[in-house]
Amino acid sequence: QPHVETSGVDAPDLADVRGQEHAKRALAIVAAGAHNLIMIGPPGSGKTMLARRLPGLLPRLTIDEALEVTRVHSVAGLLPPGIGLVRSRPFRSPHHNVSGVGLIGGGSVPRPGEVSLAHHGVLFLDELPEFHRPVLEGLRQPLEDGHLTISRGGGRLRFPSRCMLVAAMNPCPCGWLGHPTRACIDNADAVHRYRGRISGPLLDRIDLHLDVPAQPPATLHGGEPGESSASLRLKVEAARARMIARQGCANSQLGPRRLHLMLQAQDGAIALLDQAATELGFSARAYDRILKVARTIADLDARDGVICDDVAEAIGYRVLDRAG
Ligand SMILES: [Zn+2]
Repeated sequence: QPHVETSGVDAPDLADVRGQEHAKRALAIVAAGAHNLIMIGPPGSGKTMLARRLPGLLPRLTIDEALEVTRVHSVAGLLPPGIGLVRSRPFRSPHHNVSGVGLIGGGSVPRPGEVSLAHHGVLFLDELPEFHRPVLEGLRQPLEDGHLTISRGGGRLRFPSRCMLVAAMNPCPCGWLGHPTRACIDNADAVHRYRGRISGPLLDRIDLHLDVPAQPPATLHGGEPGESSASLRLKVEAARARMIARQGCANSQLGPRRLHLMLQAQDGAIALLDQAATELGFSARAYDRILKVARTIADLDARDGVICDDVAEAIGYRVLDRAG
């Protein structure tokens, strides 16, 4: 399929981010498999900086995708003058006070919401526990279906909404839990309640949970530049091409039955996950999400079968499950 060359003007590069190798690895996995992600870390640890670099790692837009993105932005009246075709993947980051209509779409003159403006791109929800709960609940259906239908005056409007959800949150209400030099002022109940605000159905749709710890000041400046977004994107595109050739979709979109057919897992790999599921109490949904991520890790490594190392790494991206 022909691709659109990105303009590159507004896409920040991963090479600007020093250190954070663990987070960069997770971003590559997320980009390759089109997985949803939540990052947990204190203020200033770089969660937003990392999220903004995800669109630049995703496979380039096909012509068809670019046309769909352009159409949504045109309907919303957000197409900049002189732009015939949107050429880079959208990145939308609504404030946590956003209304249901603003996030999902609708209104008396129906307009696409943020979830549709992020179509084929990234919807970034910073400070996830601060969003209104019913507004977040409204995201479940459009994220699941890849589109939403709005009925108005006997007619029906359909807006696309196939986007990747990337969320971020502090580890606790004050933000400093686990920080090397600052003290957290929250008690255990407050931390538990804070995390409980995002538990449930939305969290069930997130494949990777990533700890983004505070960065020592020395790693923020100086040192060698990291791998560039363009270089990492080549690996992402190769992994995605394997998925498309094998099953016609990204790994995140596999249903449970097809997922198990596509694993070609080493014997020990499933046994390892079964043992971890028993010891750490993973839900059935978490179990399948770990397998999807393991499948993507194997694809990034250009392997046909999932091995123990893939499963072990994928289990490492379930920090919220383990926190209980
Ligand atoms: Zn705290």
